[in-house]
Amino acid sequence: MSTEALKQAIRDVPDFPKPGIMFKDITPILSDPKLFQSAIDVLCERLREREIDKIAAIDARGFLFAGAMAHQLGIGLVPIRKKGKLPYKTHEETYDLEYGTATLTVHQDAFEDGKNIALVDDVLATGGTAAASAKLIERAGGTVQSIDFLIELSFLGGRDKIAGYDIFSAIVF
Ligand code: AMP
Repeated sequence: MSTEALKQAIRDVPDFPKPGIMFKDITPILSDPKLFQSAIDVLCERLREREIDKIAAIDARGFLFAGAMAHQLGIGLVPIRKKGKLPYKTHEETYDLEYGTATLTVHQDAFEDGKNIALVDDVLATGGTAAASAKLIERAGGTVQSIDFLIELSFLGGRDKIAGYDIFSAIVF
């Protein structure tokens, strides 16, 4: 199956969650077994050629893809979560959003048994979330070998915030 079929399946929802945002709804991909399998395949293909020890997944839609990817690749998964959700000792990274700030966290010992990390999320928009997540991985002693997205909104220029990393997007708008 081509990535064009995946692209066609993404539903544009205008003005969600705020006026002016065109939300890329990935639920039609999740609910179709062939499309979901194809999305996981295309995201895993590149990582198979690399020596990745673990996937770090971004809260919350990143989890939906990263869990299936980790299973297919036979490696572990580390959740990067919004502040207040992880139970053990954490590192924190606060970053700017369009309005206000957000804080992401990771367990301090998350990468002790595997340091080569692929960071996964559903959408690359302005890049702030991925940049903060990459910093967290590094603070916890991991090395970011790859940053992988199902969708990139290239007109928002998010790649600039994670320049220097090896970045892959399966679908580009
Ligand atoms: P950013 O930090 O701007 O790159 O935003 C990335 C995060 O926000 C990702 O975790 C996405 O799930 C979500 N996101 C941002 N913009 C959109 C959008 N237009 N459609 C769907 N998700 C989005």
